[in-house]
Amino acid sequence: MLGYISTRGRAPRLGFAETTLAGLAEDGGLYVPEACPKLSPDELSNMSHQNYLEVAWRVMLPFVGDDISSPELIRILMAAYKGFTHPDIVPLHKFDDNFYLMELFHGPTLAFKDVALQFLGQVFEHILARRQQKVTIVGATSGDTGSAAIEAFKGRKNADIVILHPYNRVSEVQRRQMTTVIAANVFNIAIEGSFDDCQDLVKAMFNDRKFRDEMHLSAVNSINWARILAQVVYYVYASVRLQAQTGRKAAFCVPTGNFGNVYAGYVAQSMGAPIDRLVVATNRNDILHRFFETGKMEQEGVAQSLSPSMDIQISSNFERLLFDLYGRSGSAVDKTMQYFRETGPFQLDPQTMERVRALFASGRMDDAQTTEVIARTYKQHGYILDPHTAVGVGVAEEYRKKNPGSVMVALATAHPAKFPAAVKQAIGFEPELPAPLADLYRRREKYEVLPADLGRVQQFVRERIKL
Ligand SMILES: *Cc1c(COP(=O)(O)O)cnc(C)c1O
Repeated sequence: MLGYISTRGRAPRLGFAETTLAGLAEDGGLYVPEACPKLSPDELSNMSHQNYLEVAWRVMLPFVGDDISSPELIRILMAAYKGFTHPDIVPLHKFDDNFYLMELFHGPTLAFKDVALQFLGQVFEHILARRQQKVTIVGATSGDTGSAAIEAFKGRKNADIVILHPYNRVSEVQRRQMTTVIAANVFNIAIEGSFDDCQDLVKAMFNDRKFRDEMHLSAVNSINWARILAQVVYYVYASVRLQAQTGRKAAFCVPTGNFGNVYAGYVAQSMGAPIDRLVVATNRNDILHRFFETGKMEQEGVAQSLSPSMDIQISSNFERLLFDLYGRSGSAVDKTMQYFRETGPFQLDPQTMERVRALFASGRMDDAQTTEVIARTYKQHGYILDPHTAVGVGVAEEYRKKNPGSVMVALATAHPAKFPAAVKQAIGFEPELPAPLADLYRRREKYEVLPADLGRVQQFVRERIKL
């Protein structure tokens, strides 16, 4: 059975269920499959006629091993994606014969994180029920992740969820998407402080071993392997369809923050999906773009942008790619990552960068360019982009100019109604919230305001959650 190993080489090999519950490996590394399952040419060509759930089932089956049986996986997938409002789950919108937008925002919170978290919620429930275990999921959010996690875990019997957000520092849409979910196992805490304070509190709760064991703490952040796996599916789904239509391999342009989404594209490609290049699109926080240009990974401070979910300096999932680039040497990754965190930049050699550039390209869009892309796309196609998607579309357009004839899929990672201010700045009006959220501003909210104090937050969690 396929096992999972840590990118730092000093954690036990685990199965799929253990890997999913663990999140981070105990040596500080990230779990990756010990070998990448392959799809045969026949399987790939059959998939071009299959619907999303069929493709998902076929792609995921070798990764889940004996922890989820084949019929159980079908049930999990049906439950995970039944709340998506489009029959294709991730429809392709055609701009022209060689340029498509894949809409990943038809889930309950209107962002692509639903694709992964709705699946993860079902997988957790399945694993925990079988083991008769209960967990407390704790996380900090500056916006999208919190609401997607809450939607995925609300009402579950075996998991409570506690999400910390900075008081008065998330947008009203984002806050309401979290605080209007009224369920006995959902706890929203507004912290009087910044997003960093929220993250520090979550870290401190995990580092408090007694509290962690007592409350059975668990995390669902973007390094979780099951989240990556759910994202592999849409790259396979779209690339086999487009190859059947055009006879060519598609390039994908991905608005990137933590490198989770684009890393899933790399896994799809490694499985044999007909993918040409993966184009990494960044906003002004362009550490990854600079890396793909120069081979040097060097941090700068984080600056706020119109696409806040991409305002990131260290992209945690990049470590998974580095593991492959270093010939799967855990000790080499360990040395490099420690050096990077404690000392400074690292540089990959020219031969390695040549291999990297055969697979990846990159680009960046600052806020002014992002606004221009939203305005131009609305004028040319009558289509409203959210600012994250606009970064991807802008970089995709640049790539197409340099690589004429490529078939390009830009990933749409959020619905424009989630970022009304940025959209209004570009086209002069705010997009409407789609039907399921139309009454969001009239719903009742429930949340607790607490100071940025570990003792107070822990006391709140202990009082409310009975295991
Ligand atoms: C999280 C997020 C991203 C970044 O995705 P990564 O997997 O972290 O690279 C891009 N756009 C939106 C809207 C997001 O919520």
